[in-house]
Amino acid sequence: MDNCIFCKIAKGEIPSNTIYEDDSFRVILDNGPATKGHALVLPKEHYADLFEIPEDVVAGAVKVAKKVASNMKEKLSCDGLNLVQNNGEAAGQTVMHFHLHIIPRYENDGQHILWKPTSPSAEELTAVKDTILGA
Ligand code: 5GP
Ligand code: ZN
Repeated sequence: MDNCIFCKIAKGEIPSNTIYEDDSFRVILDNGPATKGHALVLPKEHYADLFEIPEDVVAGAVKVAKKVASNMKEKLSCDGLNLVQNNGEAAGQTVMHFHLHIIPRYENDGQHILWKPTSPSAEELTAVKDTILGA
């Protein structure tokens, strides 16, 4: 992908604040962080999203995230941590190269990575289940 900013960053063609790197992944600090330490796991190969990325690569990304998260817990003394991964504009994806957000959380950090719960009926939930299962 010639015009993909995350391809260029992942391959080291554009400088970044790299906090982890191996043959398949680079982890960089987000330049618009939600909190101190907010980082992105970037595969070095281009995949647009969860639907494109092969299973073994996404499994590798989660392994890397676990390693980095453990290091953050120790070094940044965060109180919690969110893993977030957006797919498609409707879900808030703005860079169309798969990335996994690692967002350390701190008491009273003022961020809200939450959703507003809705109240479907039992029948509505069953209908959704049936749709997903193709019943
Ligand atoms: P998305 O909304 O696609 O899940 O997340 C994209 C993230 O990439 C945002 O948090 C944004 O701040 C970050 N971002 C976008 N462009 C750059 C960049 O050039 N460098 C870095 N380090 N982060 C970027
Ligand atoms: Zn890319």
